[in-house]
Amino acid sequence: MFTSEINRSALVLFSGGQDSTTCLAWALTHFDKVETIGFNYGQRHQIEMSCRGLVLESMKKSFPQWRGKLGEDHVLDLDILGKISDTSLTQDKEIAFAKSGLPNTFVPGRNLLFFTFAATIAYRRSLKHLVGGMCETDYSGYPDCRDNTLKSLQVSLSLGMDTSVVIDTPLMWLDKCQTWELAKHLGGDKLLSIVVNETHTCYMGERKALHPWGYGCNQCPACELRRLGFEKFKAQAS
Ligand code: ZN
Repeated sequence: MFTSEINRSALVLFSGGQDSTTCLAWALTHFDKVETIGFNYGQRHQIEMSCRGLVLESMKKSFPQWRGKLGEDHVLDLDILGKISDTSLTQDKEIAFAKSGLPNTFVPGRNLLFFTFAATIAYRRSLKHLVGGMCETDYSGYPDCRDNTLKSLQVSLSLGMDTSVVIDTPLMWLDKCQTWELAKHLGGDKLLSIVVNETHTCYMGERKALHPWGYGCNQCPACELRRLGFEKFKAQAS
């Protein structure tokens, strides 16, 4: 059936980190109505979750043109995910690499579950697009971040819900330097300041020291990626 009314609405998987904050700005640039969803799954560190509200408030304050588009924030309790997985994100373990080559920060199938739950909320809210910050470029080998994984999930969700679900992953082919560039492009220095000062990426939950690239332990793989990307971004800008 042909319909002239295009559904320009999105639900952003928003964790309060650098990538999902950049995705939120991307969605607010491209869609008329944007809602957010976060998942509580027994993360070892609750800091990311507590950053979410601050980032959302700052986005509304700093960008009046986005304020009216930004709607409800949904938080889903997925405690069960922490109970059925055995990883350093949900348990007190050192970050290490398993025989499979994957770091033990990997929660098997996490993004499949996240998108499936997001799709059920999006269906109820009549939101067409699901937006996530997954990326193949420096993705630590997580198979559920792969473009093909998410394309096949888009088809499964669309068939299984008998509606058109679109999964958008604006960071899929960007490295961390380009993610900083995208934030600058979408929201200039105001958005960069929110990303640096208010988002959280560090696996260790460290939030004492503020570095030029943001808070973090400066040791874990997430901090390293974020720092190296920022340094390259700054070097190019100067
Ligand atoms: Zn760290």
